[in-house]
Amino acid sequence: MASVNILLVDDNQENLLALEALLEGPDHKLITARSGEAALRCLLDQDFAVILLDVRMPTMDGFETATLIRGRERSRHTPIIFLTGFESNTVNLFKGYSLGAVDYLVKPVVPEVLKAKVAVFVELFRKNQDLQHQLERIRELKQDVKVHKRINEERRILLAREQAARAEAEQAVRQRDEFLSVAAHELKTPVTSLRGFAQTILRQMNRTNSIDPERVKHALEAIDQQSNKLSLLVSQLLDISRIEAGQLRLDKQPTDVTGLVRNIADIMRPGMTLHTFRLNTPDSISTLADPLRLEQVVTNLIDNAIKYSPDGGPVQIDIWLDEEDLACIAVTDCGIGVPVEHRDHIFDRFYRAHAASHFGGMGLGLHISKQIVQLHDGILEAEFPPEGGSRFIIRLPHLEEDQ
Ligand code: ADP
Repeated sequence: MASVNILLVDDNQENLLALEALLEGPDHKLITARSGEAALRCLLDQDFAVILLDVRMPTMDGFETATLIRGRERSRHTPIIFLTGFESNTVNLFKGYSLGAVDYLVKPVVPEVLKAKVAVFVELFRKNQDLQHQLERIRELKQDVKVHKRINEERRILLAREQAARAEAEQAVRQRDEFLSVAAHELKTPVTSLRGFAQTILRQMNRTNSIDPERVKHALEAIDQQSNKLSLLVSQLLDISRIEAGQLRLDKQPTDVTGLVRNIADIMRPGMTLHTFRLNTPDSISTLADPLRLEQVVTNLIDNAIKYSPDGGPVQIDIWLDEEDLACIAVTDCGIGVPVEHRDHIFDRFYRAHAASHFGGMGLGLHISKQIVQLHDGILEAEFPPEGGSRFIIRLPHLEEDQ
């Protein structure tokens, strides 16, 4: 147990010795001061359970000393017992109490009374110390609880993050697996068809030892069409792996968008049976683009417009400069459109909004197209007119004639 201090203040050495003899004890320490000033010095860096303060002292009397003791934060509540001579009057007594004295003893003091009073204050001081320790402990515990809570919260966040990352990784693996089976199926269809046409011709040749030019022409046309399809699928697979590796390179050059689009339409028109082109294009609008890649994007949008309007109809192509001076190419169809719940995802890798239908496709075209347009510092966006169908718009930086 830490020792408890008692301050004895008296200008008279004999009185101090008498008090020391009286109050000596193992569980407290007696400190003596021969003046008010000396007492104040002791109070600077020590706490006391009680101060026994002689009232009559030269230079600074007990009352003055008590006033200064009370004026300091550290000793504001330290109990003071005034010791006074028998000549002390009632006025002094009240003055002492008004200065915050807890007691007033007239000398010569009765030893038992003084001992009993001091013992009470020593006990009170100890209890107070215990209380302070307990409060300190409670504060520490509260702090511990706070720290604990914080650690738990951090742990919870980390766990949630880890779970989210794992779920995302699992989802990516599932998506990839699903994509592989879709891709395998998509690749198998034209391969089976190629084999079928080749075998038909071979069988005929084996059977009749001759070839029917009409049938061969038909078979070769179909083979050409299917190998085109196959080559497109393989190109998409190559593109996606280049994009993911950040290795899709562009060979940009001044490119007339109008000329490029008209060219594509001219090439595609003869193969269209149910659909027609409606072109609304200015004479020329230039951009800085990789013409082959831009052609790939526009062709993909037109292919989709045709594929997802199975009943046929017009495929509208508009080219214009928008209010932000961007060169815009829009491909609009009157087809089946995209259900609202799928619209936010159609540019996602492997995403197919009509997976349950018979349309086929690996869900890569729009994703690749978007990446290509972005590499051109452009934007590819989709709109779905209320009357139905879909509209895809490419916006590219416009290249002024003199640039
Ligand atoms: P896919 O090879 O499957 O057609 P895309 O990446 O080109 O892949 O398109 C993603 C999905 O967006 C398609 O599966 C289809 O559901 C939808 N989509 C794309 N273009 C159109 C369109 N013009 N009309 C309706 N749906 C479309």
